[in-house]
Amino acid sequence: MEILTSIEKVRETLAPLRKEEKTIGFVPTMGYLHEGHLSLIEKAKAENDYVIISIFVNPLQFGPNEDFDTYPRDFKRDEALAEKTGVDFIFYPSVEEMYPQQMAMKIVVEEGVDVLCGKSRPGHFDGVATVVLKLFNIVSPTKAYFGMKDAQQVAVIEKLVRDFNLPLEIVPCPTLREEDGLAKSSRNVNLTEQERKEAPFIYKSLQLAEKLIHEGEKDVQVIKETISQLLLENMNGTIDYVEVLSYPELKPISHLEGKIIIAIAYKYSKARLIDNIVLTCNI
Ligand code: AMP
Repeated sequence: MEILTSIEKVRETLAPLRKEEKTIGFVPTMGYLHEGHLSLIEKAKAENDYVIISIFVNPLQFGPNEDFDTYPRDFKRDEALAEKTGVDFIFYPSVEEMYPQQMAMKIVVEEGVDVLCGKSRPGHFDGVATVVLKLFNIVSPTKAYFGMKDAQQVAVIEKLVRDFNLPLEIVPCPTLREEDGLAKSSRNVNLTEQERKEAPFIYKSLQLAEKLIHEGEKDVQVIKETISQLLLENMNGTIDYVEVLSYPELKPISHLEGKIIIAIAYKYSKARLIDNIVLTCNI
């Protein structure tokens, strides 16, 4: 496994592989790797000749009062995990390498960001789209792998690829969970013992919603209220949002029909947790 810290080195290393028509799978991450990341890497390995991951905590996608400074980082640990999982290259740039000067322009995501994390975190997806476009231009992968845990991010990236005619395929991957249902996340280490105990109620409430829908519930409001009630009764943080929208359009709906997303964001003092399920409802 090779660690590449400069853009030039990434280009120099990957160009000959591309010339030989080798396929390159790319997994962008912010590091502090867990099994969720590793499942993306494994899928990329199964589908490509080479796998490159990036580890970069992108300042552009964090708001002024968010957790950029406290976001967990441990490169040595990540390096060992990546090596064990069979990663070929890690792109590990500094902030200066990615943003050597103030950018003269920026991407503004116009669609699908007036809801969910786009609404709670203004500018977040502009920062995500900007860094992902830069990373795609640096790596030029055949396929890039993204987790459905960040379903809104997947929807934004798919539109980025469509709108800018980027020559690669986006592969959405399922959410990996702890045994008690909590979605794996680098931020889980910032939970207190009590918060960690309560956190599985996020997924429990999503499962309860799914059960109600299977039993015939059609009213979005009932689903939202049932989820909120379960969270309020069992958790001591604050609900950021509980939303039910069409997917991937992310438009408000009043009746449960077609493909939908049920999404939750929940705030504790040092960690904001998100989770969702996407399902198809009978029409
Ligand atoms: P992050 O390092 O949090 O930016 O995540 C990097 C990639 O891993 C993103 O595409 C995430 O959606 C994905 N990811 C994060 N957590 C999980 C998980 N629990 N299961 C599957 N993919 C995940």
